[in-house]
Amino acid sequence: MSASLRSAILDAADAIEEAREALCLLDAASGDGDHGVTMTIGARRVRAQLEGVASDDPEVLVRAAAIGMAGAGGAIGAIYGRGLLAIAGRLREGPDAVGGAGQLELLASAIERAAVATSGLGAGPGDKTVLDALLPAAAALEATARSGGSLRDGLAAADAAAQAGADATAGLEARIGRSARHAEQSKGTIDPGAASLAIIVHALVASALGPAEG
Ligand SMILES: [Mg+2]
Repeated sequence: MSASLRSAILDAADAIEEAREALCLLDAASGDGDHGVTMTIGARRVRAQLEGVASDDPEVLVRAAAIGMAGAGGAIGAIYGRGLLAIAGRLREGPDAVGGAGQLELLASAIERAAVATSGLGAGPGDKTVLDALLPAAAALEATARSGGSLRDGLAAADAAAQAGADATAGLEARIGRSARHAEQSKGTIDPGAASLAIIVHALVASALGPAEG
C-alpha cells in the first residue's frame, strides 16, 4: 500500500469536491439537486476533523471521518456517519476477531458492518440508494477473501463492483427517500448517493494502490 489512510481519505474528499456539480445534476433528476453540495460540506468537515487528529491509527481516522460526514446533515450525513462508525467499531476489534485473519478479511468484515448499519436506516438492495454501490463492494471484498486473493485484488474488485453497482442504479426506480416521490423520473439516472460512494471508493482504492505499474 503506497499511501496512508489519512491521505486516502483526503483524496476522497478532493474527488467529492471535484464531482460536486455532476452529483447535483444527478440529484436534480429526481430530488432537490443538493447532493453534491451536501457531500462537499461533508468533505470539508472531514478535512477539518482530520486536522484535529494527530494519530494515524485507522480507527481514529475513520471515527473522525464519521463525525465530519454526520455533520454534513441530511439523510446522507446520517448514513455515512453510521456506516463509518460501524467500520471504526470493527477496526477497534482488530483482525483477531475473525480468527487471526488478515487485512483483507478485516476490511471485508468492516465494510459488511457498514452495510448492515446503513441498512438499519430503512433501505434495502435495489431501492436505488448508496447501498446499491456499497453492497456489491462488500460482496467483492468477501469473495476475494474467500478465494484467497490479496488485499490489492480485493481493493481493485471492490472499486469495480461499486462502480458497476452505481451504474446499474440507472435501471432502478427509487423506492425510498425524497426521490421515491418521483420514482418514474428517477429511472434512467444513476442514484446520486450510489454515484458518490463509487467516487469515494475509487479515490480510496487509487490512493491505496498507488500509480498503476508498467
Ligand atoms: Mg438531495
